[in-house]
Amino acid sequence: MPDGAVALPTFQTNLFIGGEFVPAASGATFEVLNPHDNSLLANVSEAGAEDIDRAVVAAQKAFKVWSKMSATERGRMIYKLADAIEADGPNLAMIETLDTGHPIRDTRNLDIMRTVQTFRYFAGMADKYEGSVIPVDTGFLNYILRVPLGVVGLISPWNFPLMFTSWKMGPALAAGNTIVFKPAELTPLSTMRIAELAAQVGFPAGVINVVPGFGNKAGQRLAEHPDVAKIGFTGSTATGRRIVQASAGNLKRVQLELGGKGANIVFDDANLTAAVNGSAFAIFHNQGQACIAGSRLLLQETIADEFLDKFLTLAASIRIGDPRDPTTEMGPLTSRMHQEKVLSYCAIAHQEGGEILLGGKAPDGAVFKDGCYVLPTVVKAQPQDRVCMEEVFGPFVSVTTFRDEEEVLTMANGTSYGLGGGLWTQNLTRAHKIAGAMDTGMAWINCYKRFHPGSPFGGVKDSGYGREMGFDAMHEYTEPKSVWVNVDANIPNFYPR
Ligand code: NAD
Repeated sequence: MPDGAVALPTFQTNLFIGGEFVPAASGATFEVLNPHDNSLLANVSEAGAEDIDRAVVAAQKAFKVWSKMSATERGRMIYKLADAIEADGPNLAMIETLDTGHPIRDTRNLDIMRTVQTFRYFAGMADKYEGSVIPVDTGFLNYILRVPLGVVGLISPWNFPLMFTSWKMGPALAAGNTIVFKPAELTPLSTMRIAELAAQVGFPAGVINVVPGFGNKAGQRLAEHPDVAKIGFTGSTATGRRIVQASAGNLKRVQLELGGKGANIVFDDANLTAAVNGSAFAIFHNQGQACIAGSRLLLQETIADEFLDKFLTLAASIRIGDPRDPTTEMGPLTSRMHQEKVLSYCAIAHQEGGEILLGGKAPDGAVFKDGCYVLPTVVKAQPQDRVCMEEVFGPFVSVTTFRDEEEVLTMANGTSYGLGGGLWTQNLTRAHKIAGAMDTGMAWINCYKRFHPGSPFGGVKDSGYGREMGFDAMHEYTEPKSVWVNVDANIPNFYPR
């Protein structure tokens, strides 16, 4: 084991329902693998429809307690959970590294910090999220309560499993809802550890239920469950569509954070050093497995060669290796299947006549032999090529050149996605103009992939609808209830008798 690594952390492997860790009703389990070498990490209980139903019943029961608790007290519980996550940081970071392949330097320094920060933000939000009073007709008082929805189903993907617990649980809990959380089948372990920590800090039984399992069984049942009021979903666009269909039975609310194909535009007046570094972070951080990755590099033709020279040098120098090693900058992709998908796009690039400038294959060497590694890959392509239109979700960036603002905007807005996009320029007028004209939920100027628990996060078009973070997230997890009171109104007599 590399220096600085810790022993295999302990984690729960059973379902968390009604405050207890229990096996699946069927007794079924599934394997969770370490993507560094595809060794077995754990056999985890696999939730089926019956387990989802049990979890919903537990959450319904807990709703009566949790929704009646004062908002301050709910916030206090969430603060305690944040403190427990912080204290467990080294353990949780190692769980996440083993389960996902994220380098330990990132899980320790970024994922833990961001998870704690987001839980704390929503802990503080619990008793600051207010209703309102509407100035209606004289003689009436009209006030708006923000009431919790009830039992919410939360479904997460495998790319940032720990961080997404806070994005989804934070606002849902702060608003007074109870939760049935289905983590991705590839990476359930950090979410299960969060459940354990929640139990330890004293969350009432059933407020948080965690039910690992497969999408087409556990996920599908949750999405169609008649007693679930909402699904908060992060994942692919195809699954998002299935969830919308499954939700129709009880017309539950659906919030969708889906895929992306972020345009990262570099103009000829950009600070090239900052743009090169920021663009590498935009695509290679977390092995490119980020919905907001800057996966389409659009370079103004006058600086394209100079930029590419520096960018390729930097990309080739990224330290790829065992994610437990604190010096590793890029680990394996999260699964063999996903590695194969990303490599298949290298073949597609060849077929389309694209030029592979860097990578395009798994790294050589004994350390990589059994793992899911892919080298940083840079492909020169045409805007209409599949590699420029489809989400690859790996360390794979397409490069295209453009002449002017008009042409680059057509390219940037030319995919079905609309999550995030960025641009690098020192021209203030151009910066605001292009940021405003991009069909995205988020735009970054002279930076990329910035987010914060207070700033709305989400997309448009095939990237979904609804927003995580901030007050927007609280709106997503509450219903406005309008209450009318006659305080001094002279009501006309409509039926004179
Ligand atoms: P996925 O859609 O395959 O799976 C996501 C989750 O949905 C998993 O928990 C899975 O078990 C579950 N699921 C699958 N089928 C289901 C069904 N029929 N009913 C209910 N649940 C079902 O996505 P993934 O491969 O895990 O994640 C990668 C995708 O997530 C990428 O497209 C990425 O862009 C997207 N993503 C989006 C955001 C965002 O905020 N917009 C963030 C991260 C990832």
